[in-house]
Amino acid sequence: MTEYDVIVVGAGNAALAAAVSARENGAECVVVLEKAPREMRGGNTHWSGGVLRFAFDDPREIGPLLPGVEDEIEDFYDGIQPYTFDDFHGDLMRVTSGQTDPVLSRILVQNSKDTVFWMNRVGNIRMEPATSLTGVRKGNKIIWARGLVVRAAHEGVGLSRGWFATAEKMGIEIRYGAAVTAILQDGRGHASGVRVRDDDGVADFHGRAVILGCGGFEANVQMRTQHIGPLVGGAKVRGTPHNQGDGLRMAMAIGAMPWGQWSGCHATPISADWGNFAPRELTDRSNRLSYLYGVMINRRGHRFVDEGEDGAMFTYAKYGRGLCHGNERRLGRGQGPARAHAAATAFCHCAAASALKIRSVDRETRCR
Ligand SMILES: Cc1cc2nc3c(=O)[nH]c(=O)nc-3n(C[C@H](O)[C@H](O)[C@H](O)COP(=O)(O)OP(=O)(O)OC[C@H]3O[C@@H](n4cnc5c(N)ncnc54)[C@H](O)[C@@H]3O)c2cc1C
Repeated sequence: MTEYDVIVVGAGNAALAAAVSARENGAECVVVLEKAPREMRGGNTHWSGGVLRFAFDDPREIGPLLPGVEDEIEDFYDGIQPYTFDDFHGDLMRVTSGQTDPVLSRILVQNSKDTVFWMNRVGNIRMEPATSLTGVRKGNKIIWARGLVVRAAHEGVGLSRGWFATAEKMGIEIRYGAAVTAILQDGRGHASGVRVRDDDGVADFHGRAVILGCGGFEANVQMRTQHIGPLVGGAKVRGTPHNQGDGLRMAMAIGAMPWGQWSGCHATPISADWGNFAPRELTDRSNRLSYLYGVMINRRGHRFVDEGEDGAMFTYAKYGRGLCHGNERRLGRGQGPARAHAAATAFCHCAAASALKIRSVDRETRCR
């Protein structure tokens, strides 16, 4: 029986970063257990745009991540505004209406730049300017959305591939088609391994530490309906079908306490033409972010969100949920800026009201 130093559950960005960090910090025997078959590996990370929001005081701090960028993009740094700790944290507070976790959000923002640099240096994740998503050309200059300048080269596909390449190079064992079904405990109640189901049956893996990096319950209709509501239960999934809330259920089964906002979600408008699950090869191309330039009305002809409340990068993740509830909701009088009413073409997303991306329903659990 192999006794691992570290067992990592999942093989997306979180899990592979944890596995690489474990090796970097001296763990010799690290295994990554991925439920998906090899050809479906990488979780939502594969589907993502790979854009990395992080805080910096001076745009030139970004430089080492993007060697040669000034040859590629004229006056590159002139189009970037500083994005300080306070800017990033303030955005988190504003967009979540103050519901972000005060401790975790500080940790996230404080470590954001160092983490991206670590991904580049140790994880060997190559970076590129996020031109097509967040850069807007104005004359000769590209103006960048605040805090969103860098992404993994070749977006989520590159990010995922990069992590697998580094993990393999570091001698980390990766097992595909290995679904973890339970966390094992020793006599003191400490996590001592996991139970795994694969094509050969069920087996126990033992280790000194278990790390859960296996996503949320975004692809689980039952859990979405139960925790977020029936209208979101019927939404479409823009990422992996494998994130079924297993990690949360396994942790709670051994006494972890549910924490955070279970009724919230990260959902975005997508085209109604997409199926219940987005094709893997089309990654994040389901996004429809044009709502900013018009108005959305429901079947009764009412507006139900303020399309121009903020830039798309700050509203898209919450307006998916708004669309789900669109036919039931009406915007109050005087809500929303006049420019949204006056926008050129009124377009109707009613048909897309059920076409949403659900991804990373952020949940944490804390041990009692
Ligand atoms: C279309 C799309 C675009 C996005 N764009 C961006 C972006 O540009 N920037 C950004 O910051 N974020 C973006 N995101 C969000 C980002 O992708 C996720 O927050 C991030 O990838 C989550 O990483 P993760 O490792 O936690 O989960 P995942 O990458 O989803 O990995 C979880 C893994 O766990 C595995 N797993 C699940 N259950 C088990 C089990 N029981 N046993 C073993 N393995 C299991 C899954 O198969 C999966 O591989 C996007 C998401 C989507 C869907």
